[in-house]
Amino acid sequence: MRIIIIGSVAAGTSVAAKARRNSEECEIVIYERDRDISYSACGLPYYIGQKGIERSDLTPRDACWFKKRFNMDVRTGYEVLTIDPSKKSIEVKDHHTGEIFEDFYDKLVIATGAKPINPDITGVDNNNVFTVRNIESADKIIGYIAKTFPKKAVIIGGGYIGLELLENLVKLGIDVVLIEREKSLAGKLDRDISIYLEEYLKDKKVKFLLGEEVSEITEKKVITKSGKSIEADFVVSCTGVRPNSKLAKEIGIETFDNGAIKINHKLETSMEDIYAVGDVAMSWSIIDGAPMYVPLGSTANKMGRICGDVLTGGALRFKGILGTGIFQVFDMAVAQTGMTEAQAKNKGYDIEVIHNLKPNQTEYFEESREMVIKAIADRKSAKILGVQIVGARGVDKRIDVFVSLISMGATVDQLFHLDLAYAPPFSTTKDPVMYTGMILS
Ligand code: FAD
Repeated sequence: MRIIIIGSVAAGTSVAAKARRNSEECEIVIYERDRDISYSACGLPYYIGQKGIERSDLTPRDACWFKKRFNMDVRTGYEVLTIDPSKKSIEVKDHHTGEIFEDFYDKLVIATGAKPINPDITGVDNNNVFTVRNIESADKIIGYIAKTFPKKAVIIGGGYIGLELLENLVKLGIDVVLIEREKSLAGKLDRDISIYLEEYLKDKKVKFLLGEEVSEITEKKVITKSGKSIEADFVVSCTGVRPNSKLAKEIGIETFDNGAIKINHKLETSMEDIYAVGDVAMSWSIIDGAPMYVPLGSTANKMGRICGDVLTGGALRFKGILGTGIFQVFDMAVAQTGMTEAQAKNKGYDIEVIHNLKPNQTEYFEESREMVIKAIADRKSAKILGVQIVGARGVDKRIDVFVSLISMGATVDQLFHLDLAYAPPFSTTKDPVMYTGMILS
């Protein structure tokens, strides 16, 4: 069996590694348009902003490593131009020589990821405007900073990538203004949670504008639709991504309105012997099965591993996601899983909502900090639908406990009965998760 994979970052390489672990028999070829493979895009903001994080830390493996370790061919600098499902072939361009050739598959995996949304702004293609998507894009920012010593920057977009980058540019001593079109930062959160983040950043004298849309970028400034002019030597656009599904759409594979490829539990697309994994594919909610597009490395890796198993006859199946995410900006952590209050209401649930403010550990420790947990539960089934947490420490641990509970369909009364770990440096005798259960039930 000859498996061809298009794209070699999180999802594509996971498919290949699992397929090879399961079977020595199959032939595996990955075509990757770019130079870098199997890298950590999640580390890019820190690579840009923090000394000591090297390019090689983010790209620990190259094509030779994959050949040696997994006996597979990862061909970088090769772009797949078209797919012909009737011949089970693909057309590939070798960017080293310009040659175009045909290759044949038994199973084809589309792992082409997502690409940044290019906002409709005058000057967005200027030399001083950047995006952060792959290592090369981060290298461009690093090179620009090293060469021009910029003093001022604007980040467009207040999602988690914009916020992580904000912290890292500020730490480089750059005067940054973040501009967000919506009326709140981290727009996927409910307003009563994102407000904590905004207050925290205001206290730290971080500059951001909400409800402002950028209309023009010039060499030295950014102008908003309302007429505000902000000085900026350079701009980074972090306005989100959309699935890179052109190849699939061209041959009539079923996609959703946002372009994400429709897949099933086996990662199969609507076309025989063609699979899709990672940011290019639409996921679905574990809670109610509704389509969910939350492009994350955690999901891309999981989908990839399951697909590699399926291809080689394994029993693994993809079960969907909760859309769990976490990010840090300076020393504030923000995490979310499942539905927000707004989403649950939109879906017609009759909900119970609680806010629970508790220290992450025993208060006599100097580093003890308060965390805010917002939990949403369905009154009818008593099941937890979603949780959002902001705080300084221990947010990651709590959100993952909630993730486990929601994934298992736990009801609110079950929270209190959890035998959670306690010692003063880690928690309080009744952990904030238990308190949430006590208030909800
Ligand atoms: P991609 O990483 O997009 O890779 C797809 C590859 O396919 C690309 O290399 C592309 O060149 C190649 N390709 C496309 N078309 C073709 C073609 N026609 N021929 C050949 N090759 C092609 N996720 C988290 O879970 N946690 C985080 O903290 C986090 N932080 C992030 C921070 C940043 C700055 C960014 C940009 C992303 C972050 N993510 C995070 C998201 C995560 O990086 C992505 O979800 C993940 O990289 C998706 O992997 P993928 O393999 O599906 O797609």
